[in-house]
Amino acid sequence: MSLLDRRTLLIAGGAAAAVTLAGCSDRTDTGGTASPSPTASTAPTSTTSSKPSSTPAPTSSGPNWNSFARALEGPLYLPSTSGYAAAHQLFDPRWDSVRPAAVVKATKPSDVQQAITFARANKLALVPKSGGHSYVGASTIADGVQLDVGGLKSMSYANDVLTVGAGARLYDVHVFLDRYGRSLPTGTCPTVGVAGLTLGGGMGVHTRTYGLTCDRVVSMDVVTADGMSHTVSADAEPELFWALRGSGGGNFGVVTSFRFATIPATKLGFFRLSWPEPQAAAVVRGWQQFAQSAPTTVWANLHVDARSNGTLAIRVLGVSTTGDATAAAAQLESLVGAKASARTLSVKSHLEAVKYLGGGTTSPRQRFLAGSDVLKGPLDAATITGLLGAVKAAARAATPASAILDPLGGQAAKQPAGGSSWPWRSALAVIQWYSSAQNKGAQTFIANGHAAVRSASAGGYVNYVETGRAVSSYYGASASRLDAAKKKYDPDNFFHTPYTLG
Ligand SMILES: Cc1cc2nc3c(=O)[nH]c(=O)nc-3n(C[C@H](O)[C@H](O)[C@H](O)COP(=O)(O)OP(=O)(O)OC[C@H]3O[C@@H](n4cnc5c(N)ncnc54)[C@H](O)[C@@H]3O)c2cc1C
Repeated sequence: MSLLDRRTLLIAGGAAAAVTLAGCSDRTDTGGTASPSPTASTAPTSTTSSKPSSTPAPTSSGPNWNSFARALEGPLYLPSTSGYAAAHQLFDPRWDSVRPAAVVKATKPSDVQQAITFARANKLALVPKSGGHSYVGASTIADGVQLDVGGLKSMSYANDVLTVGAGARLYDVHVFLDRYGRSLPTGTCPTVGVAGLTLGGGMGVHTRTYGLTCDRVVSMDVVTADGMSHTVSADAEPELFWALRGSGGGNFGVVTSFRFATIPATKLGFFRLSWPEPQAAAVVRGWQQFAQSAPTTVWANLHVDARSNGTLAIRVLGVSTTGDATAAAAQLESLVGAKASARTLSVKSHLEAVKYLGGGTTSPRQRFLAGSDVLKGPLDAATITGLLGAVKAAARAATPASAILDPLGGQAAKQPAGGSSWPWRSALAVIQWYSSAQNKGAQTFIANGHAAVRSASAGGYVNYVETGRAVSSYYGASASRLDAAKKKYDPDNFFHTPYTLG
């Protein structure tokens, strides 16, 4: 999902539209080019290999933290240790109040093995953390071990294959690959972790041309609950390889590195079209046809945004991997049956496009609430009315809210070599219900959104995991095979949260 997606329009003083967004900065809707504030960059603290300044105090009973700290290459943070507060933060400040018993900042794969072995021996729960962008705070845990792989971020490139540590963030990956004229199909937030994104699928502007991020994995190294390290691929432990590609992080083990088949880093053509609210239903209908009939080199997502003056903003961001989005914009307008009221076309080099979509090179921490529905096919007229009604109700209640529809199809409709557990190959799109608020109004908006499209929904996207929904609803036809893989690779259900299999 584009970070241009993560926007909520607020009316300042009832007149001018001020743009805020949850997640990463945006700078295009108002025509402005404001750079992200340097002081706003509060993404989770990067790791260092130095140990924390105060050594964990010995305990008379319970886990022997001192010997554990000595066994690790990277630092260990306890609540009594300086640096703990920053060490356990996630992207959303909502989770700052969750206090792990310890934070391990792994700097070597052996730290991952040590941490798993230690946690098991001491009957402590453990969750991995990469970029910390989990929607539900699944990468932190009260009274357990948070295993942060952020220090495993080395990268190398040879023969079109990227080898990358599981702790790398998306922007760093793009900058590194750009040197070689290569790229990866990823999401767009610069600070999202490559591990969390990939393990849950990974959608973005290249999805239709090149598939999901997980589709580009050729092999990965993973430490399972028994502390053993495995290199998995289509040929080596193919069932674990299948399971890891699309089931979401935190289920089967801790991935320490990935090898990806890269794609060319080409210039991208962009269009941005918007229509007035009375044409909203026609735009949804036209966009659905476009998602089914546009060339696979074209990706375009539809935003229905609540504005705090009670109206809706309707807009489409389109990207062409041919470098020219002119024909695609005209095709969409033709399918909508009306010229856009505002229209911009542009062409950007690969790295310019990465920064544009990400709103810069980093992203400020942000509170938000979101959920998703995977659309089986085009919505009928009544469901479109319901969808628009859900956003309109939020607008009337002055709740910041957006329905963001990301298309699938093209290469994402095809199984990659070795197969993957990502279950939504035949779906039309993923709709995200997104609010930058975390209040009752935001919850009501998301519930209304789900209800509006219930008959058209196949389930949810696991990277947009939310509370209060059955875990199996993220897995469609992959659910029972994933359950079997979970029993095989994690028989004691060591990797366990309310959001995991088992
Ligand atoms: C601002 C923002 C923008 C986003 N944009 C997009 C987008 O464009 N496209 C898209 O598809 N998604 C997008 N997402 C969703 C994102 O893909 C998921 O939130 C993803 O899980 C985040 O990964 P992470 O590593 O940053 O998060 P984390 O919170 O670190 O991890 C997410 C999950 O994976 C587990 N995990 C982390 N590291 C590992 C590991 N090494 N091995 C095994 N399990 C691990 C965690 O325990 C947790 O369950 C966005 C999210 C946000 C907040």
